[in-house]
Amino acid sequence: MSQAVHANYINAEWVQGPSQRSNINPSDTRDVVGLFTQADEQQVDQAIQAAHTAAPAWALSNPQQRADALDKIGTEILARKDELGELLSREEGKTRPEGIGEFARAGAIFKFFAQEALRLRGDKLASVRPGLEIEVTREPIGVVGLITPWNFPAAIPAWKIAPALAYGNAVVFKPAELVPASAWALSEIISRAGLPPGVFNLVMGPGSVVGQAFLNDARVDGISFTGSAGTGARIAQAAVQRGAKFQLEMGGKNPCVVLDDADLDTAVNCVVQSAFYSTGQRCTAASRIIVQKDIYAEFLARLSAATQSLRVGHALAADTQIGPVVDESQLAQDLRYIAIAKAEGARHICGGEQVKGDTPGHFLRPALFADCDNRMQHCREEIFGPVASVIPADNYEHALSLANDTPFGLSSGICTRSLKHATHFKRHAQAGMVMVNVPTAGVDYHVPFGGRKASSMGSREQGSYAAEFFTTVKTSYLQA
Ligand code: ADP
Repeated sequence: MSQAVHANYINAEWVQGPSQRSNINPSDTRDVVGLFTQADEQQVDQAIQAAHTAAPAWALSNPQQRADALDKIGTEILARKDELGELLSREEGKTRPEGIGEFARAGAIFKFFAQEALRLRGDKLASVRPGLEIEVTREPIGVVGLITPWNFPAAIPAWKIAPALAYGNAVVFKPAELVPASAWALSEIISRAGLPPGVFNLVMGPGSVVGQAFLNDARVDGISFTGSAGTGARIAQAAVQRGAKFQLEMGGKNPCVVLDDADLDTAVNCVVQSAFYSTGQRCTAASRIIVQKDIYAEFLARLSAATQSLRVGHALAADTQIGPVVDESQLAQDLRYIAIAKAEGARHICGGEQVKGDTPGHFLRPALFADCDNRMQHCREEIFGPVASVIPADNYEHALSLANDTPFGLSSGICTRSLKHATHFKRHAQAGMVMVNVPTAGVDYHVPFGGRKASSMGSREQGSYAAEFFTTVKTSYLQA
């Protein structure tokens, strides 16, 4: 990327804001990925107004027009996934295969919702009153403000923008401050897809300015947010107060249960992938590893060996398995929780120390703790880093109760060869997503995503279930 300042996209024009922000590569802090403009309140106001003006006509647009635009976006993303994936890895720090995989997923999401635009259906019912006919239809909600986090710089924007547009909403998109390059590249592709002016707007800038403006502005009919629980609570409060629709995806403290009848190779692989890949920076990452006591010692030995063999380094180096932590403040948070775990009496098995790489980056060795108590602070709060806590369980029932004993409820995993326990766990895990013999993180793009308890609020994202948030239902009565 050149050092020109990347602009915001408002009403089909590229416009500079009053300030700018450097995007720093977490694998090499000397590398400036690019400069990105930052909006002020006045510029957010213009973007919201552009969307507000464009929304009524777009709401009535031909679904074929929406399908064509989304398909075009998906096709270009897929054709450029290697280049875009590398950019993503450079700014966020996940490995190159993870970055490419994420853009491939973003492309697939746009193509899926291209088709969904044509599949929006309603119901026709007989009335209980003579001569009346009833129709139930879905309409777009209007202007949606989309607020996204830094850990999935392409996939999360895609899974909000694509359904928003497919179902006929006008979009104001605010990406996370740390990862504007992927968002800008995605927006640049969207800007050439043939959408009418004002239907899609990109506004980069601080959450406290741009995000906050979405909360307060009556022209924003709905807010879809993924991020921290603290910001989510502010959004919920503001949205309820002014009657806006909202959808929140927040944290997790996901368990992975390993029973004594599990295939141990599968279980070690599930735990390593769930806990440490993408540097543990996934809301579906497993951080509580609940292990039945009959296999505890053997499993821990195998998990420890696998954890210590992980190669930590520059996200774009060919042999890297674990990229850097995203920035200094996240690194400080990880180190703080590692110190808390030690102070709470968790047995330190390996990792948790900073690693010096060939480049100045935020490298951290994946940390493993054992003999943890589920009531310990580091087992209750989301760390969002490569830190896993192994908790012993007496039997299946004990493991299930530990798995559910958490304020969160996003993803819940189990490794077992018992059909009885797998079936029981699927039914009784208090989570939005249940994983049997697969990692807690890593989901398909065409099925619902979301959680329970403190993890999520509002209807599910992704798949045809996304229509719940991005449309509103109308029931029409007709006397013929
Ligand atoms: P994280 O800790 O993952 O950065 P945040 O909740 O702080 O989580 O950020 C997620 C998204 O929410 C980012 O795009 C951020 O800019 C935005 N955000 C932060 N503060 C606010 C706010 N007060 N109102 C709306 N959005 C905000």
